[in-house]
Amino acid sequence: MADKDLVLIGGGHAHVQVLRRFGMRPEPGVRLTLVARDVETPYSGMLPGFVAGHYGHDDIHIDLMHLARFAGARVIHDEATGLDRAAGRVLCRRQPPLRYDVVSLDIGSAPRADAVPGAAEHAVPVKPVDRLAARWRTLMAEAEGAERPLAVTVVGGGPAGTELVLAMHHRLGARVRPALVTRGALLAHHDPRVAAALRRVLAERGVTLHEHAPVARVEPDGLVLADGRRLPADRVLWTTQAGAAPWLADTGLALDAGGFVRVAPTLRSVTDPRVFAAGDVASMDGHPRPKAGVFAVRHGPPLAANLRRSLRGEPLRPFVPQTRFLSLIATGDRAAVASRGPFVARGRWVWRWKDWIDRRFMRAFRDLPEMPPASPAMVQEMRCGGCGAKVPAAALARALDRLGGVGPRDDAAVLDAPGDGRLLVQTVDHFRAFVDDPYVFGRIAANHALGDIHAMGAQPLAALAIAAVPPHAPALVEEDLFRMLAGARAVLEAAGARLVGGHSGEAAEPALGFAVTGAVHPDRILRKGGLRAGDRLVLTKALGTGTLLAAAMRGRVPARHVAAALEAMQRPAGPAAACLMAHGATAATDVTGFGLYGHLMEMLEASDADAVLDADAIPALPGALGTLASGVVSTLHPANAAAAPHLRGGPRVALLFDPQTAGGLLAGIPAGRAAACVTALRALGCADAAVIGAVTGAVPGSRRVVVRPAGLATDGQPPMWSEP
Ligand SMILES: Cc1cc2nc3c(=O)[nH]c(=O)nc-3n(C[C@H](O)[C@H](O)[C@H](O)COP(=O)(O)OP(=O)(O)OC[C@H]3O[C@@H](n4cnc5c(N)ncnc54)[C@H](O)[C@@H]3O)c2cc1C
Repeated sequence: MADKDLVLIGGGHAHVQVLRRFGMRPEPGVRLTLVARDVETPYSGMLPGFVAGHYGHDDIHIDLMHLARFAGARVIHDEATGLDRAAGRVLCRRQPPLRYDVVSLDIGSAPRADAVPGAAEHAVPVKPVDRLAARWRTLMAEAEGAERPLAVTVVGGGPAGTELVLAMHHRLGARVRPALVTRGALLAHHDPRVAAALRRVLAERGVTLHEHAPVARVEPDGLVLADGRRLPADRVLWTTQAGAAPWLADTGLALDAGGFVRVAPTLRSVTDPRVFAAGDVASMDGHPRPKAGVFAVRHGPPLAANLRRSLRGEPLRPFVPQTRFLSLIATGDRAAVASRGPFVARGRWVWRWKDWIDRRFMRAFRDLPEMPPASPAMVQEMRCGGCGAKVPAAALARALDRLGGVGPRDDAAVLDAPGDGRLLVQTVDHFRAFVDDPYVFGRIAANHALGDIHAMGAQPLAALAIAAVPPHAPALVEEDLFRMLAGARAVLEAAGARLVGGHSGEAAEPALGFAVTGAVHPDRILRKGGLRAGDRLVLTKALGTGTLLAAAMRGRVPARHVAAALEAMQRPAGPAAACLMAHGATAATDVTGFGLYGHLMEMLEASDADAVLDADAIPALPGALGTLASGVVSTLHPANAAAAPHLRGGPRVALLFDPQTAGGLLAGIPAGRAAACVTALRALGCADAAVIGAVTGAVPGSRRVVVRPAGLATDGQPPMWSEP
């Protein structure tokens, strides 16, 4: 049972080590949470190799969801925007403030907008490093599409700029005219022999080097130097010293002149004993060091140890980073220059050495050891059942107070009858948490429950919640309950429904469900029956949540695909339902546990119709076809598939049986309006909405659903169901 919240902000080089260490040795009584703007974090040492084409995306990124699962940490996929230190809360961009007892910052550095006029508008910032991969892909496409070599100038003559210009040259060859501009001497903080070696390499590669050339202004077509010279450039990459996140200035923490958090050698803020900082964002009093990944990595072990000590109330131990460190500067061509103080070496063997060190570092976060599961006895500690398992009254009251507007808190909710000729529709849904972020779970659970109401063409009015949260200290229970309900309420309110009451209890795993009441005019009810031959079948969301969540539990899908699935599950069904109705929907349902096939069969049976589906047209979430192809399916999948033993094939057919959480709506739309309906859905944000098939007349004894094999409709002809 936890009674303290340790919150890590940012999955930088130091925090990934904290997570690994806490996974190896959990800290009793501590609930660990990672707030991560990005769920895959790049390892800076391998970035130049990625640019040069030696590594792929997955080689250089640490999967924070995978690592957090190992660490027993919750991932809040959000960006921290501030600290309310008086209340002990992390302010987040999308979610309500998050409680902490101890908080640690490892958020790297941000581009400095104030640096040079025009830089913010016309230069491509290389920091933050997690954005570099996408920016680099854009630049490559531009160079490849250009009619003449693209003049690319890198500004910043430190190791990052030098590596980057060489890596870029290696990757794009004659498609770029590379230049490197630096305000002082090249690699000014290294031994002169290192700089001399790199000058030779730059000259060999035809990189024009401008040293002692401070940039005065960046313009759309190049640079203006302080001495007035103009250097034309199609693209400018900005790698000079980055700044600190601007929001740090509002935290009241002591900062250095650059805006970075001043820490003691214990990595604890000199202002606030509950705040730690590491990596680029930290500035250690008395021991200034360059902003380099190598220091961020070194901060990891002492930070983990001091966080534990702080949580236990033990004295912290100081850590003084070394002044000399090994620097390995890659030259793009699978060679590198090594330097440590006066020692300098260059060659392919240096690259192989660097490659070995970097890959070993990455393996430590990918190949995580199997850890014995926590004993259920430890977790359960003889907790009572029945009403003894209710959430403590005070914690419940505080959570509801913070939420505001729930109630009045009587024995039962009192609702107005619509009284305008509309009928009431009611539904209930409930499930265990499959995501450890309570706010996101709340949003998805509410969305899922509302799906039935929207599928009926009804307006949601009110919801009762049934919530279960794990047993922790009351302050932590309050936080869990508050966040789950806050997420849910945001979705309910956006749909026009009120959260009017509920019941809460404790359970080993969080769970949440809703009984929702809606209203609909009798002649506007959309039912499962009503499909007519010729109608097109329109699906509003991509499929694949079942297989992706199953794969996520097994650590077999990259975090970016899990994040995309969670986003899709949070997308509301209300606007899509209104759009379907506006385009003359004849029948509708929401696609959930029984998968597309199961829910379509329900519609066809109720409508006494058959259907033909185009497997190619059925949208899949990113990664879902891959996980299905590798045989990862959700628990309910085999039972769904057993309903159609005649339908077997590759992952596209398996997708039909994938159980959906907060899935899309499936509707019959008159043929002449289907294309316009899909266009309108996409304009509403349902980017994956598609016509996936057509309704045909019932043929006695048929199997009702025919699936055209993927690839049949490749002759440029209209899809197969357009035949009369
Ligand atoms: C091209 C290039 C090559 C480099 N090569 C080297 C090298 O070879 N060796 C070396 O030592 N250094 C190198 N560096 C420097 C190195 O990248 C940084 O010093 C290092 O990344 C700093 O690590 P960090 O842990 O402080 O932060 P980062 O690695 O930047 O990690 C910060 C993390 O925090 C997250 N985050 C940021 N803001 C928020 C927020 N508000 N809320 C939640 N999450 C947030 C980000 O998504 C990211 O995952 C290179 C830099 C560049 C640009």
